Amino acid sequence: MRLLFLFFAAVLGGLAQTNTYLLRPARVFDGESMHDGWVVWVKGDRIEGAGRATGIDDPKTKVVELPGATLMPGLVEGHSHMLLHPYNETVWNDQVAREGLALRAARAVNHLRATLLAGFTTIRDLGTEGAGYADVELKQAVNEGIISGPRILASTRAIVATGSYGPKGFAPEWRIPQGAEEADGVDSLTRVVRDQIGRGADWVKLYGDYSAGSVAGAHPTFTLEEMKLAVEVAHSAGVPVAVHATTAEGMRRATLAGVDTIEHGDGGTPEVFKLMAEHHVALCPTLAAGDATSQYAGWKKGQQPEPARIAAKRSSFRAALAAGVTILSGSDVGVFAHGDNAREIELMTNYGMPAVDALKSATSVAGHVLRMEIGQVKAGQFADLIAVTGDPTKDISALRGVQFVMKGGVVIKQP
Ligand SMILES: [Zn+2]
Repeated sequence: MRLLFLFFAAVLGGLAQTNTYLLRPARVFDGESMHDGWVVWVKGDRIEGAGRATGIDDPKTKVVELPGATLMPGLVEGHSHMLLHPYNETVWNDQVAREGLALRAARAVNHLRATLLAGFTTIRDLGTEGAGYADVELKQAVNEGIISGPRILASTRAIVATGSYGPKGFAPEWRIPQGAEEADGVDSLTRVVRDQIGRGADWVKLYGDYSAGSVAGAHPTFTLEEMKLAVEVAHSAGVPVAVHATTAEGMRRATLAGVDTIEHGDGGTPEVFKLMAEHHVALCPTLAAGDATSQYAGWKKGQQPEPARIAAKRSSFRAALAAGVTILSGSDVGVFAHGDNAREIELMTNYGMPAVDALKSATSVAGHVLRMEIGQVKAGQFADLIAVTGDPTKDISALRGVQFVMKGGVVIKQP
């Protein structure tokens, strides 16, 4: 309740005047490296400057003391599903087929608040999974101050090849509404990409491979030509493309088609990751999704050896790092609880990424990949800032101790 009050007070205050803040933490991670003894000035919705404290400040400046804390850019969730809730509560099939739009939107309101309070000030949401264009309207609700949440990049329904997606398990003569929009070939893909963009997609999401049909395992869906066409149509509208791909061939086609990010990448080989690095395609590894679903399937983490799937994911993630692929931190949250997004950053360090690089992939690198003025503590960027207790470059679990959150110069949470 107190947080809610602070939020509304801050919103109303923001309307009355241009707020200026001086934030005084123990140190600042600026999205690249750590700086002891820095302070940060905020004016309106932007960062005005960062560096060593100088002279006397305007008496109207609000000073926020954050002793012992690290101030850093608000974290970015590169791959979320705000309209899903953990699969150990309700399996995906049933969420899509049995939970109605209002119920799902009601949950999403809670998910967005939890995400922001956990220090994630931006999310790229990669598909409503049967909930239509609700992401675009939830984004509008956040932007209009109706609900509390992070900045949202929406992708609406996402696009799958006919017959490749779900829900599955129904009589074959039934046409079941799918968790994404089906499209194939020149006419239909062109129309659906344009239609989703017209309805508010900031990113176009395609499924480049999936597990379907009588042949076990994931197989490529769209042909290289189809994917190239979808990319051409999206890019000509200025909209970037994210492709779900877990097979080496799906990843290869996506890379050659000129997509912007590849999601998951579990089956990536050193050759495919080299190709991605050469073509500047970023990888969103979603380590947390496999970590969660393996545990839902019975793995007792810490007590039992790692399942083959986790061991394979560790080695493909290391191959991506070795090839120099740009890593965008993204977890597939929704599979597990919203607000637990830091799990991905922790796992990236656990799987072999230096802590500073993991933090960059959720801040400065994310800002770059998502083409937004976020992710760095630098003059001119949006004042999306958080403070965590301790130093996350020394102990990544410090990300769990979020004591201060500011989004666009509005204080959402403070000590
Ligand atoms: Zn996903």
